[in-house]
Amino acid sequence: MTKLFLNKKISRRIESGHPWIFANEVNKIEGEVNGGDIVEVLTHEGKFVGRGYINPKSQIIARLLTRDKKEVINEDFFYNRLLQAWQYKKQMGYEENCRLIFGEADFIPALIIDKFNDYFVLQTLALGIDVWKPAIVKALEKIFKPKGIYERNDVPVRELEGLPQHKGFLSAPFDTKIVINENGLKFHVDIENGQKTGYFLDQQDNRRAIQHIVKDADVLGAFTYTGTFEIHAAQYGAKSVLGLDISANAVDQANENARLNGLENIVHFEAMNAFDVLKQWGKDGRQYDVVMLDPPAFTKSRENIQKAITGYKEINLRGMKLVKPGGFLVTSSCTNLVQPDLFLEIIGMAAKDARRTLRQVTYNAQSADHPIIWGLENTHYLKFLIVQVL
Ligand code: SAH
Repeated sequence: MTKLFLNKKISRRIESGHPWIFANEVNKIEGEVNGGDIVEVLTHEGKFVGRGYINPKSQIIARLLTRDKKEVINEDFFYNRLLQAWQYKKQMGYEENCRLIFGEADFIPALIIDKFNDYFVLQTLALGIDVWKPAIVKALEKIFKPKGIYERNDVPVRELEGLPQHKGFLSAPFDTKIVINENGLKFHVDIENGQKTGYFLDQQDNRRAIQHIVKDADVLGAFTYTGTFEIHAAQYGAKSVLGLDISANAVDQANENARLNGLENIVHFEAMNAFDVLKQWGKDGRQYDVVMLDPPAFTKSRENIQKAITGYKEINLRGMKLVKPGGFLVTSSCTNLVQPDLFLEIIGMAAKDARRTLRQVTYNAQSADHPIIWGLENTHYLKFLIVQVL
């Protein structure tokens, strides 16, 4: 097995358990370097650090799969990891739907698997994990006897690894339009053409958090995608709910979801640009009891972080202005580039500009099926905040 020796001075990051090894942290490599192969990582003095996969094309030259010398990387390894992850998710109370594997946080770097009842959607985001796809599929079949497995590898990040973008079946073909149950409601999930893996499971716990503030309320939601928060609001007793998304497809799906739950008289969705509309409605003096915002990341790169800050501040300012005094703002940010402290700071700046005082109700991260590993910054990416706007 090829051996990868680290620099004499090992970074604190690697020492304290972080699975990524950057190319400039490697002193020398002994043996052949074939992208995707399992390699052994050693200290400068030759002490075992771990085993992982290598890709010389990537800035992250290796990602560790194990730090246990006795653990071999083979089909059984993936079966065991998937089983352990499933046991953990069940322990956390998830049954039907969950992110079964959240990459590093479930100890399989660069692998994402979402479980939607009997269907599984998979993303292999690095070469070294892509080569294990057959083993992963086999493990899923053994543990779950799935009705279908689908690959949503149509993501640009794969190109950094020299991998093509691709989507398709990893099992016998099946109808990729499925229905899932969440918190007693039903939602269509379009596995093939929906955003990301088809559905945002990372907000599944947070959707319950709006339960008490929406009763008898007039609610406005923006960036609604398939309308999950808004349909929850209707279920929890809102008087009226209007949801906005820029994607006409998402809006159609959201209206279908409202009908699926028999809530179409309370909640409806329109295709609109939230930035324009919220600004105009602010000028018109429209007011809501609850405003809910769940915007996209605005940027994917650290260089453009200012763009994200400006976007979040702008939309939250506009949202806050539409909240009646004493009403509530429900707001999220889904990029790990904006760390929790910065997110709160941005909301604070918006409140200052809007001349409103905030009283905090709830502050959460993503739902517990997407665990956060302390010290592994990118595993804490979602911020979810409910404030009363005084
Ligand atoms: N709340 C959703 C997820 C929202 S994802 C859920 O829990 O499932 C972000 C959404 O913002 C996407 O559906 C995208 O189409 C939408 N979007 C992006 N820019 C927008 C804009 N300017 N106005 C309205 N919607 C926008």
